[in-house]
Amino acid sequence: MFKLYCDVCGKEVTPEEGTLSWRDDGSTLSDFRITHKQDQNHSEIRYVSYIHLWMLSGIAGYTKFIQLLIDHWDKGYTLKDNKGLKKALDQISNYIWHKTKKNKEQTD
Ligand SMILES: [Zn+2]
Repeated sequence: MFKLYCDVCGKEVTPEEGTLSWRDDGSTLSDFRITHKQDQNHSEIRYVSYIHLWMLSGIAGYTKFIQLLIDHWDKGYTLKDNKGLKKALDQISNYIWHKTKKNKEQTD
């Protein structure tokens, strides 16, 4: 089973207890990280946005998140942390892929 790991404490994080959080200061998105909810650890709490991993780890929620990013770029936002965003999306899509594969194996 593919597991998700907290970017802050390094321990496994389940979709039920984790979030993908980032910094949104009104013009820039940055500091994307997958963590336990209590480990988000961003410097300025008022700029923090997040989505629960249980939502993001379903294909509908994943797509919603991509749409949310597109909406921000449409508004003229800058992406400052492409590496962090790619790493987070990579982890989530791997998680979805393994989950889907496992479900398929069970029904085959
Ligand atoms: Zn953690």
